[in-house]
Amino acid sequence: MAAIAAAGAPFVPPLVRPLAHRATPTPSAKPLGFAVVGLGSLATNQIAPALQTTKNCRLAAIVTGTPAKAVKWKAQYGIPDRSIYDYDTMDRLADNPDVDVVYVVTPNGLHARDTIKAARAGKHVLCEKPMEVSSERCQAMVDAVKAAGRQLAIGYRCRFEPHHLEMLRVARDRELGEVRLIEAAFGFPIGDPTQWRLKRALAGGGPLMDVGIYAIQSAEMIVGSYPVAVTAVETTKTDPVKFADVEESLAFELKFANGVAASCMTSYKVGGMNRTTAFADRGTFGLTPAFNYDGIRGWRSDAKPLEAPEVDQFATEMDDFADCINANRPTSVSGEMGLRDVRTMMAIYEAARTGRTVQIA
Ligand code: NAD
Repeated sequence: MAAIAAAGAPFVPPLVRPLAHRATPTPSAKPLGFAVVGLGSLATNQIAPALQTTKNCRLAAIVTGTPAKAVKWKAQYGIPDRSIYDYDTMDRLADNPDVDVVYVVTPNGLHARDTIKAARAGKHVLCEKPMEVSSERCQAMVDAVKAAGRQLAIGYRCRFEPHHLEMLRVARDRELGEVRLIEAAFGFPIGDPTQWRLKRALAGGGPLMDVGIYAIQSAEMIVGSYPVAVTAVETTKTDPVKFADVEESLAFELKFANGVAASCMTSYKVGGMNRTTAFADRGTFGLTPAFNYDGIRGWRSDAKPLEAPEVDQFATEMDDFADCINANRPTSVSGEMGLRDVRTMMAIYEAARTGRTVQIA
C-alpha cells in the first residue's frame, strides 16, 4: 500500500457531483425521447415503467428482434409504427427526430454493437452496466459517441440513489472519522443454466461482471477514486457444468491510492450477499441491503439514522442524463467510468488467474 501511495497515482476528480445537481431535474420544454433497445426483463419491468414517471424523458421508440414484443409494447405504450425497429433497421433512428437518447439494454456483449449504431445515428446513449466485455470494445464505444458529438452514460443507478449518496456524505464529512477499510458484496444463486449470463461471449464473465460491479462502484463512490491495484481468489466450482464458461464465486480486494482497501465478494452460487460497509476511525456505517431497486436500509454504529428517501432509481438516472443533455453538462456516469470499471474487472480476473497483485495504470 505504501508503495502504491508513494508511486502517486494520478489525481482522479470526484466521481459524483453534489446532490443538488440531480435532486431537481430541470423541466425541459419538451421531454427527451428515449428509444429502448432490447425488451428483456430490465427494460420491461423497470425501465419502461420508470419512463412513465420521469420528468424530462418519454418512451418514444423501441428496438426489438421479437415481433410479438413490438405488438405488446405498441399497445401498452402507444408507440407509433414508424418508431419500431429491429436490430437491422435501427440505423434508421437517424431519421427519427422523436428520439434523442438510445437506452441500450441488451446482453453485455452486444452493448458495443448497439451503442455504436446509435451513435452513428446521431443519438446520445445510455448503456446498461457492465459497459461491455472488454476494454477495447468500451474504448470503441467512447470513440464512436465522441465522434458523433453526443454523450455516453452508463446505467450506474446507485450513483443516484439517496441512501448511497447519504453514505457518501457521511464519508466525505468524516462524521465517524476517516474511512480506512470498506467491505462490499453482492451475489445471488442464479437459476436457468442456459441463460446468456452464463455464456462468456455475451456476459464477459460471471457474477463479477453482473453484480460484483456494484461492490466496486460502491467502494469507488465512498473513496472518490478508482482502484490502482487488485488481488483475487476464485472459489472451486461446485457445478463445473453450469459454470463451465464463467466463475461461480469470487473474493477480491481493491487497493486505492489514498491507502484505503476494499474487501469484496460476488457469487452466482449463494445469496444473502447484498451489503456495503465503511470502517472509519470512530465507527462504521453501511447499507444492508445495499443494491436492490428499493428497500435499501442504512445504519451507523453511533445509532444515528442513516436514512434517505426512496426514489425510482431508473427514473432518477434517466432524468439526470436528460438534464445533462439539456444543460450541455457532462454526465457523472461517463463512458470513461464504465471503461475504467471494465479494466478493473479484467485486472481482477487476471489476479485470480495468476495469484498475483495486478496494478491498474
Ligand atoms: P434479459 O435477458 O432479460 O434481456 C435481454 C434482452 O436482449 C432480451 O430482450 C433479448 O431478446 C435481447 N437480445 C438481443 N439479442 C440477444 C442475444 N443475441 N442473446 C440474448 N438476448 C438477446 O436481460 P436483462 O436482465 O434485461 O439485462 C439486460 C442488460 O441490463 C444487461 O447488460 C444487464 O447487465 C443489465 N441489467 C442492469 C440492471 C441494473 O440494475 N442496472 C439490472 C438487470 C440487468
